[in-house]
Amino acid sequence: MLSHEVKQSDALLNLRSYVGRFAPSPTGPLHFGSLLTAVASYCDAKANRGKWLVRIEDTDIPRIYPDSKNHILSCIDAFQFEPDAEIIFQKDHLGLYEHVLEQLKNANAIYACQCTRKILGSNHIYAGTCRDLNLDFAEQAIRLKVADQLICFDDRLQGQQCSNLKHDLGDFALKRRDGIISYQLAVVVDDYLQNITHVVRGADLLDNTARQIWLGSLLNYPNLNYMHLPLAMNDQGQKLSKQNLAQALDIHRAPELLQQAILALGQPFVELDQPRVMLQQVVQQWDVDLIPKGIHLTATFL
Ligand SMILES: [Zn+2]
Repeated sequence: MLSHEVKQSDALLNLRSYVGRFAPSPTGPLHFGSLLTAVASYCDAKANRGKWLVRIEDTDIPRIYPDSKNHILSCIDAFQFEPDAEIIFQKDHLGLYEHVLEQLKNANAIYACQCTRKILGSNHIYAGTCRDLNLDFAEQAIRLKVADQLICFDDRLQGQQCSNLKHDLGDFALKRRDGIISYQLAVVVDDYLQNITHVVRGADLLDNTARQIWLGSLLNYPNLNYMHLPLAMNDQGQKLSKQNLAQALDIHRAPELLQQAILALGQPFVELDQPRVMLQQVVQQWDVDLIPKGIHLTATFL
């Protein structure tokens, strides 16, 4: 357990080799924003002589979109990304997440919460209502206790980020009442399991990071290095997402889309070719300093 402040440091990471990942959830087809994340995570890993792994985040079963798993796999093929290990599916790890919950329960780090959505209302900060009620864990939501302390990390693109989870959020759920394991728990456990060292993902996940650092620190997992990419916006100024029906990546236009993604990431122009050849070239020229700063990307061709 940690005392005053959780601070991320790069010092340890330099001793370990780079392992990065691309971790889409099959709640809709991949879109241009997903491609940016795939390209950036791949090129950053390869430019650092690291490994690049793929993980399908399919724990949120009610939100799984029937064909999107196949679409993700066919995009990885069509864009000629080459994962350095077999693709893993979080659905196969449900027993493992339960095991980690048991560990946290033994450490008195979690508790059962019976609050309904109605009771919680629109208040985004959980007041800790059930913290000392000692409720039975069966068929209840499970919450992780947070501390009144500042959690900081240095994002490679977004700079230093700090958050006090107690003030900003309150104790947060690791498992829903319907049994669905939270994104936070699954991500932290799988990053550890896959020996991930570097996380490259969209800035929409920036405010999840403090939660993941806190959970990882309670489990004594190693610190990770983070880079949150600016989000691609559509011409109405909304971020591309499955919710606003962003266009699915067309696998028949892989070289053209790849070329656009490379430009959107601020990297030097790459001629149309086989995606594998184009990716090799981006890896050779990869420069994080050229990626646009900020959390929104408003290139005109998006
Ligand atoms: Zn509660």
